[in-house]
Amino acid sequence: MARFSSLLILILCLTGCETAPVTPRAETASGLPPVIMISIDGFRPDSLHRGDTPTLDALAEQGISAPMRPSFPSITFPNHYTLVTGLRPDHHGVIGNTMIDPDIAGEVFSVSRKTGLDDPRWWDNGTPAWVTAQMHGLMTAVMFWPGSDVPILNTRPEIWYHFDPKRTPTQRVDTVLSWFEHPPEKRPALSLLYFDGVDHAGHKYGPFAPETRAAAREIDTALARLINGLSLHHIAANILVVSDHGMTTLSPQRIIPLTSLAPAKSMEVVTSGPYAGINPVPGHERDLARALSIPHDHVTCWPKARIPERLHYGSNPRVPAWLCLAETGWTLARDPHEHISAGGHGYDMAAPDMMATFIASGPAFLSHKTLQPIDNVDVYPLLMMLLGLLPENNDGSLTPLQGGLRDTYRAIQ
Ligand SMILES: [Zn+2]
Repeated sequence: MARFSSLLILILCLTGCETAPVTPRAETASGLPPVIMISIDGFRPDSLHRGDTPTLDALAEQGISAPMRPSFPSITFPNHYTLVTGLRPDHHGVIGNTMIDPDIAGEVFSVSRKTGLDDPRWWDNGTPAWVTAQMHGLMTAVMFWPGSDVPILNTRPEIWYHFDPKRTPTQRVDTVLSWFEHPPEKRPALSLLYFDGVDHAGHKYGPFAPETRAAAREIDTALARLINGLSLHHIAANILVVSDHGMTTLSPQRIIPLTSLAPAKSMEVVTSGPYAGINPVPGHERDLARALSIPHDHVTCWPKARIPERLHYGSNPRVPAWLCLAETGWTLARDPHEHISAGGHGYDMAAPDMMATFIASGPAFLSHKTLQPIDNVDVYPLLMMLLGLLPENNDGSLTPLQGGLRDTYRAIQ
């Protein structure tokens, strides 16, 4: 792993340019334009161009965009960590929003119960981009990205915060803008910014509800403020806008009680909802296997060793013994009478409703370009190239994004 700030010139030489490279303006200590990656949790790509998001629409027009497949499971923590490591959840270890690990005895990682989240042992199978950047002397600043408040490999971003859902999109943007009020050498080379409002509204009201559209408008307005603020500081940043997954409509009419799949006494349910992770109660291994091997409507179950390869899921010790995956829009429920949200996600990442958003705009990118669908593991190699850093080993590739890069940024693989 080594810094390669001369990457652009090297690439130009390899691609046979005849004129001197047009070096992007040095806006930070890295000598490269700052990189700002923004996550809008649960933002579907078809939410663009509907009149709610003029700022995002303009960013996509001025730059490149593509539908983006999340990694399985299509939920928040695994995919946010994939976006900054380029690793599938099986490889970076954040395999769910709820996890148990035989090597981390007595602790449950649970996003909903807020337990174990700041224990680096859950995170340190991956090296997020901010850690690599910090280790190479680049300043990073992160507003709420999952994992950014954890000392992963004993390193946090230079600026970080504990998640506070009460901070409005405008307040979050104003904090980011404050990072750029300093002279170029003190500005972050990498900034990350996270918005949860669309996901929150999507779960509560459904993906197409007026409240969800209003949440998108509020974030879009805040992003206009960000772009105007950067412009006032004469900063030409490479801006990436991503989401972690899509959102689909749920219904109390589409519930599969887990007890309809196997006897309650045979199951230790680690997680349920769009998919269920189930371990056998000791002594009931064969009962559970027999029950879950029977075909059921609207759900498919596999022992972890037989999960289809395209899901890239099941090799990690944290993945429970059985995975049951519901058909998109159906809910696997511990309790047949449990409350079902209006919207949800976590399904097969190839399902159209689970598709995520990718937009990139700035000096590195061509304009008016829509690319073929990409995988979200491909964002990390792009991020590292934009920072002038060699990526850690990862599951992604820059190739699907090459067609959206300006000549001076086209990188070698
Ligand atoms: Zn999410």
